[in-house]
Amino acid sequence: VCFYRELPKVELHAHLNGSVSFVTMEKLIKRKPHLNIEHSMTAIGKGQRRTLDECFEVFKIIHKLVDTEEDVLMVATDVIKEFSADGVKYLELRSTPREEKATGLTKKSYVETVIKAIQRCKNEGVDIDVRFLVAIDRRNGSEVAMETVELAEEFMLSSGGLVVGIDLSGDPTVGHGRHLLPALERAKNCGLKLSLHLSEVPSQLEESDLLLNLPPDRIGHGTFLHPEMGGSQHLVDKVTKNNIPLELCLTSNVKGQTIPCYSKHHFRHWYQMGHPVVLCTDDKGVFCTDLSQEYQLAASTFDLSHEAVWKLSQQAVDCIFAEEAVKDQLKQKWNELRPQMF
Ligand code: IMP
Repeated sequence: VCFYRELPKVELHAHLNGSVSFVTMEKLIKRKPHLNIEHSMTAIGKGQRRTLDECFEVFKIIHKLVDTEEDVLMVATDVIKEFSADGVKYLELRSTPREEKATGLTKKSYVETVIKAIQRCKNEGVDIDVRFLVAIDRRNGSEVAMETVELAEEFMLSSGGLVVGIDLSGDPTVGHGRHLLPALERAKNCGLKLSLHLSEVPSQLEESDLLLNLPPDRIGHGTFLHPEMGGSQHLVDKVTKNNIPLELCLTSNVKGQTIPCYSKHHFRHWYQMGHPVVLCTDDKGVFCTDLSQEYQLAASTFDLSHEAVWKLSQQAVDCIFAEEAVKDQLKQKWNELRPQMF
């Protein structure tokens, strides 16, 4: 684990409420004993599997535990520090702004609070550069999607570069991307970057084809795009023509059972093609993982040398949404750290 923990890393696909660690979860459970929530209800341990449906039920439970500004602040601060402790030097967190009438949490104060956590960590000198992607939950339809983009637009302008893009996520079996196109187009036109969950389940090929026309700046999962996974060459061509990086989450896909075992993960096909892929955790709390483990898992499953793993983490820098100057700084950091690793 030592090499993988020390390896400087970039995390680009991390849902805030899916990333809550055991320690933070304990604090939340203590704050709300009346909910009768146990830790076993919010995490999927080693060797355990859940259907994707069951995974989305887990998020509902976590949302009950995280329903005040104070909770959001604690969760975001803890998650950022944990990623940093795992050797992540640049993190793009994503989260769905949520309103909770009972506690006065609004979508706007939700985003403000995440930004506050990012700034707080920065002021404390935590060694990690953090950006925020505002998430659209596909379940909530076109109107909410448009409101979310407007909110993100507002914060893109006021947050001093911390809000850099939009994520499209949520239960892939609910709703259709076609209704979300106007919101996604608007986001693109105002300068927000787009990371879209595409083809996380097999039934989404037509939707993926449509959304690839935008085109997105990055793809979340993209599990069933490749012909070897039941997708098509046409879809692969669209992805490669625009050189759209894929965010790949091995543990998440196996525990969520969209992939039967690690060796069948679509990492193989895209990596062999030399297409940009970025290893990510997705939901490190729910799936009980961290980014070092994901790198180690990819290395052992696909027989990658330390040199190849280094290249993988270095190439992830090219896929970030922050401005070019940040990429240059990170590349310099990787160059400085390399001699300690080899
Ligand atoms: P939040 O947006 O910070 O509340 O993080 C939890 C949310 O992220 C869930 O309710 C989903 O909308 C989304 N999410 C987390 N993991 C996945 C995934 O694997 N596929 C699609 N959406 C996901």
